[in-house]
Amino acid sequence: MSKRILVVIGGDAAGMSAASQVRRNDPQREIIAYERGEHTSYAACGMPYLAAGLVARPEDLVARRPEVFRERQNIQVHTRHEVIAIEPQSQRVRVRRLGDGLEFWQAYDDLLIATGALPIVPDLAEARAEGIHALKDLASGIALARDLEEAQPRRAVIIGGGYIGLEMAEALRLRGIETALVHRGPQVMSTLDVEMGALASHALVELGVQLYLNEKLAGFETQAGRVRAVVTDQRTLPADLVILGMGIRPNSDLAAAAGIPLGVRRAIRVNPRMQTETPQVWAAGDCIESLHRVSGQPTYAALGTVANKTGRIAGLNLTGVATAFPGVLGTAITKVGETEIARSGLQSRECEGLGLDYTAAQIASRTRAGYYPGTREIAVRLLADRGTGRLLGGQIVGGPGSGKRIDTIAAALTAGLTAQDLVDMDLSYAPPFSPVWDPVQTAARVLLRES
Ligand SMILES: Cc1cc2nc3c(=O)[nH]c(=O)nc-3n(C[C@H](O)[C@H](O)[C@H](O)COP(=O)(O)OP(=O)(O)OC[C@H]3O[C@@H](n4cnc5c(N)ncnc54)[C@H](O)[C@@H]3O)c2cc1C
Repeated sequence: MSKRILVVIGGDAAGMSAASQVRRNDPQREIIAYERGEHTSYAACGMPYLAAGLVARPEDLVARRPEVFRERQNIQVHTRHEVIAIEPQSQRVRVRRLGDGLEFWQAYDDLLIATGALPIVPDLAEARAEGIHALKDLASGIALARDLEEAQPRRAVIIGGGYIGLEMAEALRLRGIETALVHRGPQVMSTLDVEMGALASHALVELGVQLYLNEKLAGFETQAGRVRAVVTDQRTLPADLVILGMGIRPNSDLAAAAGIPLGVRRAIRVNPRMQTETPQVWAAGDCIESLHRVSGQPTYAALGTVANKTGRIAGLNLTGVATAFPGVLGTAITKVGETEIARSGLQSRECEGLGLDYTAAQIASRTRAGYYPGTREIAVRLLADRGTGRLLGGQIVGGPGSGKRIDTIAAALTAGLTAQDLVDMDLSYAPPFSPVWDPVQTAARVLLRES
């Protein structure tokens, strides 16, 4: 009977998926998880909807509380405990109990690092002023929701036009707050090609967001400790609330300090079984590097889908079930107002960086038959290798019913299909759902003509 000790650092998606999987396969294993926050297994993805008031209570975002892990799964979860050092040579971690500062060593037979990612915060003293928020864990989401209630801000500025920036723009507009968004690139959503990013930018403007593109944050003005304006390289925007959506970085400093090798963007390097290059140390979720399934190159994909999957894979391998993670496509979806935005695979910039000879086609179609009520515009952009026709990536921007069509593209990319294969796919049709040619297939037909 195994009494090996598994220590997990991080009590959210990756960490607790792994811990639960280990418990399923090994009822005897001692599992100890340290989480520096108060919550476990929370849906960070739901925080913009908490801010919008669409989710009533923060507790609604918690999938499983620490006591449930303890009582039902015999997983010893310690919240408000931060791991401050890893000593791989002696197989132990140094833990600080945040309540009283007490520190102690905890030995492990296996260690799983699932420390997630951290938001990028500008290196400015004023960035710590009241009213400036960056979303990372549930506590940050609760703090934002409370600030929205108590301060009743009238004017907000969002820095960064990634998906968190867009989702927060929607949330703030739903609350009737005057909202500006500052983005340093030519269009928001820089994971899309610029032609598709332009449609996302347009959706923001339609929502009543003042959009400032090609503009950089220069600083903040504060008064009595609270933000009162955002200063860019071109103007000063009054603000009593600021959201930082400037991107994230892997939370890998702890691993780096222990000599655990890092890879792309300082994410922890793992093999397909989620083992790091340091014996008995595993990693999963937003802190790791992944393999891109199209390029075959290492990449960084910080998404809840990947965190849950890699956590499960780590858990399987930790219990002797050899399972390999095949990698990621960076498939992601979001919405702003009525406009749905989705992407999968490589974008043009990445194809160019890889030196690929690719071709791209973009079409405008409808989400439903043109005569059917509620039909909306949809744009689909597909990229393929010029020589072989193999699909490389796809992007979608359009009205309700558009976004989840990305999953057809993700399936095609997973299978290594060509544009011709996509044209030949037997997809469904009825007027309330699609034109006779699904817009994804229309894009594939145009792509065939272009290549
Ligand atoms: C606002 C927002 C919206 C999002 N929306 C989506 C979405 O729609 N779709 C999607 O796929 N993804 C989305 N994501 C991303 C998704 O939430 C993450 O990919 C996922 O939470 C990663 O899980 P994780 O377990 O790897 O890391 P995390 O969820 O970051 O969890 C890591 C945990 O480790 C703890 N920790 C860190 N260091 C230590 C330490 N030294 N000691 C103890 N504990 C520690 C942290 O407190 C944290 O709870 C969103 C993220 C945010 C912030």
